[in-house]
Amino acid sequence: MLSFGLPLYGCNQLAIDRIGPTLMFMGTQAQKERYLPKMLTGEEIWCQGYSEPNAGSDLASLQTRAVIDGDSFVVNGQKVWTSLAHRADWQVLLVRTDPEAPKHKGITYLLVDMKSPGITVRPLVQVTGEAGFNEVFYDSVRVPKENLVGEVNQGWQVSIATLMYERVSGGTRHPVERTINELLELSKQIEFDGMSANRHPYVRQRLAQFAIEARCLRLSRYRSLTAQLRGKIPGPESSFGKLFATELNLRVAMFADELLGSYSALDKGSLGAVEGGRWTQRALAARGLTIAAGSSEIQHNIIGERVLKLPKG
Ligand SMILES: Cc1cc2nc3c(=O)[nH]c(=O)nc-3n(C[C@H](O)[C@H](O)[C@H](O)COP(=O)(O)OP(=O)(O)OC[C@H]3O[C@@H](n4cnc5c(N)ncnc54)[C@H](O)[C@@H]3O)c2cc1C
Repeated sequence: MLSFGLPLYGCNQLAIDRIGPTLMFMGTQAQKERYLPKMLTGEEIWCQGYSEPNAGSDLASLQTRAVIDGDSFVVNGQKVWTSLAHRADWQVLLVRTDPEAPKHKGITYLLVDMKSPGITVRPLVQVTGEAGFNEVFYDSVRVPKENLVGEVNQGWQVSIATLMYERVSGGTRHPVERTINELLELSKQIEFDGMSANRHPYVRQRLAQFAIEARCLRLSRYRSLTAQLRGKIPGPESSFGKLFATELNLRVAMFADELLGSYSALDKGSLGAVEGGRWTQRALAARGLTIAAGSSEIQHNIIGERVLKLPKG
């Protein structure tokens, strides 16, 4: 729940919030003993190889192939948008092992050593100017059979568990309460509509509303955390938190832009950029967080269909 002011992904985030919990529930005893301790200490950094050029929202359409050859799976294909692949030691990887089966049924979930021969990582530069995620190519990469999680062709269930954990964390890893507090501090230092921004009724109303929503989010997260501590894998309701947190984060970032007016166009390194351009960076990054782990539209679909039981659109 606490961010301690550390940067996103600063503490092996993907391992801690989604991959470790998945292994705790679905991994073998040997996998738990081998991988969990080094996730916690940060000795082994993890990334998540799900999305492909033609399989993002429709993840089950993934085409990266694996065939069994002796004691190994042999993997060929490509992933994209893989956060941290350029730093990771290990990866969870979704592969198609039965191309004849219905698309959700022929998928397998593997643990892959990123130093395996045949893996090529190419960083992608995003709108913020940083290269946080990557394309990853697999050319006859051998993965030992003991790195299988769950059953062959049954990886979809495992992958969904990881996604549910990811969505639960979708709000906590983005410290929106901290951002709101920083915005409050900023409002004390700048003018808005001819007066100190923190005295302006419109600014005060907006900040108060953000603070209320952030508190609701925190309390809702406690409920999810309690369920997890009782040993439950999060369900589709985790989409609420992911959707609400990332959309709130985006609205906060957009409001910071509104407060800064034309200064919001000045990015880091520019003369006159407010607080080193960090608000501009946040505004640029905030949109991406509404896409990662399933876009807001996909979260709406999940809530509509799986929580509210509405008919498919
Ligand atoms: C910051 C960031 C980090 C990421 N990190 C990772 C990572 O570490 N590993 C990984 O595997 N992937 C990662 N991703 C990829 C992410 O999971 C995908 O971008 C996301 O699932 C959307 O897929 P897509 O980009 O292919 O868009 P598409 O699926 O092509 O979607 C395009 C648009 O169509 C909309 N859309 C699609 N289908 C529907 C539908 N059925 N109903 C309504 N609207 C729909 C989407 O909402 C979106 O607006 C990351 C993405 C971002 C932005």
